[in-house]
Amino acid sequence: MAWLPIGCFLIRSQDRIILVDAGMGPDLDDAGPRRFLIGGQLPLGLRALGVAPAEITDVICTHLHSDHCGWLFDLDAVPVFPHATIWFGTGDWHHFVDGPSERLLDHIRHGLRVTAEHGDRLRLVDQDTTVASGVTLTMTPGHTPGHLCVIVSSAQQRAILLGDSIVCPVQLDESTWSSMGDVDPALARRIRERLFRELEDGRTLGSGAHFPELQFGRVLAGEGRRWLA
Ligand SMILES: [Zn+2]
Repeated sequence: MAWLPIGCFLIRSQDRIILVDAGMGPDLDDAGPRRFLIGGQLPLGLRALGVAPAEITDVICTHLHSDHCGWLFDLDAVPVFPHATIWFGTGDWHHFVDGPSERLLDHIRHGLRVTAEHGDRLRLVDQDTTVASGVTLTMTPGHTPGHLCVIVSSAQQRAILLGDSIVCPVQLDESTWSSMGDVDPALARRIRERLFRELEDGRTLGSGAHFPELQFGRVLAGEGRRWLA
């Protein structure tokens, strides 16, 4: 049994307050002994940081699995972050919202459709895109068709919020281990290798949405590369 956090990150850039990933929502997801997900903590976490939902200007979902978009809308499909622009990959719209391929909770799908029909608060992304000063998105498909990572940079420093493109640092040592959720495991593996290479340049840190304690780390280059948190 592994214990994984369901992580979200908050970025402040000039007058923007950007939430990366929108958690599990208020629910539990009990899918038997192999998977038990506990939601409910995001509003508390934001309050602890002194941020009200109405102050969030942008929500970036690395992808649309249920543990990354659960707080976008409440059970009546009303936006939880009323003033936020929502960003995610175009491929995930086709896969999760349009397509029958994977189940998206009804209120989330409905909320996204209504948002798309009214107003301009939805940004679908299919290429590297700047969200705000020092915050860019890079396409990293494989875990899901539209998966993206968020690159946060300031002067010479750089961090990658990996979403689920790397689910656990152990994948550096065990390159054939894939997430149960990978839609295209072969592509996901190639993308992981690309990201691990970026994480060994000496100035780039990374953390995934489910890394132990959400600690940032990097790859130590050399023979038998190692993960250093
Ligand atoms: Zn996840």
